[in-house]
Amino acid sequence: MLPLVALVGRPNVGKSTLFNALTRSRDALVHDQPGVTRDRHYGVCRPEGLRPFAIVDTGGIAGEDEGLVGATARQARAAAEEADLVLFIVDGREGASALDDDILKWLRKTARPTMLVVNKTDGIDSQAALNDFARYGFSDVVAVSSAHRQGIDELIEDVLAKL
Ligand code: GDP
Ligand code: MG
Repeated sequence: MLPLVALVGRPNVGKSTLFNALTRSRDALVHDQPGVTRDRHYGVCRPEGLRPFAIVDTGGIAGEDEGLVGATARQARAAAEEADLVLFIVDGREGASALDDDILKWLRKTARPTMLVVNKTDGIDSQAALNDFARYGFSDVVAVSSAHRQGIDELIEDVLAKL
């Protein structure tokens, strides 16, 4: 069985876009509307000459416990708990939000190895974007642009170093 990497983060940070960049597919639903990916969704990243690993895209975690949103959050938590490595995806343009803080709290409870991935750093100062998340205290941090495939190869190398 391939090692499993879970993509976790609030809606609209670019999890599905990153899933597509890693699997080179157009499979995951990418949408402007937050919360459009509602199920767990599996794929495989097959980097040339490197070890393949499985990826699970999750619906956004919207901080509520009722209804469809709550079910999506539970799916995301289940995905994180079964993963060998969690990529905590945040939006480098919007910076850290209260919802990111909440997600980080339960991610720490799952105690899975976690890397911080700051997405949407195309056309902005990526160091400033990273600094905004410095208080989260991650030693493993990567700035990427999933939409423009920037930083994706570095991300894959960092992921493989952890698997
Ligand atoms: P998800 O809800 O976390 O799965 O987010 P999506 O992958 O559906 O993306 C939400 C929105 O952010 C879409 O409009 C994407 O085109 C946009 N987006 C995703 N990644 C990037 C990126 O690296 N840069 C920019 N500028 N936009 C992005
Ligand atoms: Mg999505």
